[in-house]
Amino acid sequence: MTRITVAKGDGIGPEIMDATLDIIKAAGAQIEIDEIEVGEKVYLAGNTSGIANSSWDTIRRNKIFLKAPITTPQGGGYKSLNVTTRKFLGLYANVRPCISLHPFVSTKHPVMDVVIVRENEEDLYAGIEHQQTDEVVQCLKLISRPGCEKIIRYAFEYAKQQKRKKVTCFTKDNIMKQTDGLFHQVFDEIAKEYPEIENEHWIIDIGAAKMADTPEAFDVIVMPNLYGDVLSDVAAQITGSVGLAGSANIGEECAMFEAIHGSAPRRAGQNVANPSGLLQGAIMMLNHIGQTAVAERVQNAWLTTLEEGIHTYDIYKEGVSKQKVGTKEFAQAVIANLGKTPKTLKAVSYANSAALNLPKYKRKASAKKELVGVDVFVHWNGESADELASKVKALELNHVKLSMITNRGIKVWPEGFRETFCTDHWRCRFKPQEGASISKQDIISIKTENLYAFDGKPAYSLGQGQ
Ligand code: NAD
Repeated sequence: MTRITVAKGDGIGPEIMDATLDIIKAAGAQIEIDEIEVGEKVYLAGNTSGIANSSWDTIRRNKIFLKAPITTPQGGGYKSLNVTTRKFLGLYANVRPCISLHPFVSTKHPVMDVVIVRENEEDLYAGIEHQQTDEVVQCLKLISRPGCEKIIRYAFEYAKQQKRKKVTCFTKDNIMKQTDGLFHQVFDEIAKEYPEIENEHWIIDIGAAKMADTPEAFDVIVMPNLYGDVLSDVAAQITGSVGLAGSANIGEECAMFEAIHGSAPRRAGQNVANPSGLLQGAIMMLNHIGQTAVAERVQNAWLTTLEEGIHTYDIYKEGVSKQKVGTKEFAQAVIANLGKTPKTLKAVSYANSAALNLPKYKRKASAKKELVGVDVFVHWNGESADELASKVKALELNHVKLSMITNRGIKVWPEGFRETFCTDHWRCRFKPQEGASISKQDIISIKTENLYAFDGKPAYSLGQGQ
């Protein structure tokens, strides 16, 4: 028996959660449930994180969390509970299998079987944003070596366990040479440890185009957070419906399972929603907690039901579907099919699908770190970079001189172009002269960021979970 935490969420959440729990219990899932309240009601009661402290205790105690979609109220100040949960609990791997169910669910890609493994904690989702000048806001993109190593190793271990042939990495390292460059470099390092699995790297733009056009060319695809967020929805949608995909958020201790779609408030309370996405999340949960035989029974019954043409409105198609059913009736049909295996679609075998056990990240020896210059960002409303240069030269020390000024990353001094458009946000780079150095300390501030209010309105992001 495994004790799990369940949140029924908002909108269609309670209906699809009830259907999902009915199915997995009927299949013999050995689970005990602690239910918690998260989402809209909690937000509107004044808790900007959408979850009470006592609910965190339950989630952390049980370690396994099955969550229906929630509604994040419109307007500022509400932090996404999904992002907070992933980061608080260290759920670094987001795994989304995207599989076509041709000919029972229409799709332009009948042979698609792609698993997106998305880094889930960092990248632009660090949520560190600041308005710095009247004209410029920034969002910090943070990529760490442990973040890259953990997710890339997870992708290869997943491929190995699931007997998949290839792991592809998508980045934009031709532009972001430090951040995406690190992700790509770590991919190349870790790929060497898995010589039996093919590996390749694509620049994200052409890779995404290829995935949308020829998904059968891919198997497992690993990528940083933002790209993974966007492309896992694309991948799920092109299998035929975003409503059929589930997602696992895996950490070293805890894990959260969900559907990839939202709370579809317009469909709530009408017994029409398709519970399949959440059911797929629950099947991944059953595998994760070692109840693989139950997971297999549920998946094969679900495939059989789809094959029989018993479809909810979102995938119902004249000529293919046989019967349009509501949420409850769909669940009953899956329960009636427990023990059956599909005839046309490929039956699944989950004998080897329990949770992966990955080695802990080991910190590498520190490299020799030297302070070799300082970038000073300034808010200045003038237009001539030469004029700014003459002003900031006042900051020069005897041996530390202004070496360059950029505006939005493009060099405008010395020898800038008259045509370059400049905002009020300038970066002035100071470097020591040949042979000189800047004084070193063991712990040194690498950056400070001023917090501003513009017209009295705070112009910086809250901490995740704040
Ligand atoms: P959505 O995914 O909730 O719905 C988009 C449309 O897809 C719906 O109008 C509906 O037609 C269809 N749809 C989605 N799921 C379906 C299902 N199971 N069965 C049948 N049809 C389905 O996206 P949205 O309308 O952009 O977002 C609504 C709310 O959900 C927002 O508050 C958003 O913040 C939230 N959201 C939550 C999660 C989550 O909790 N994981 C994820 C995404 C969005």
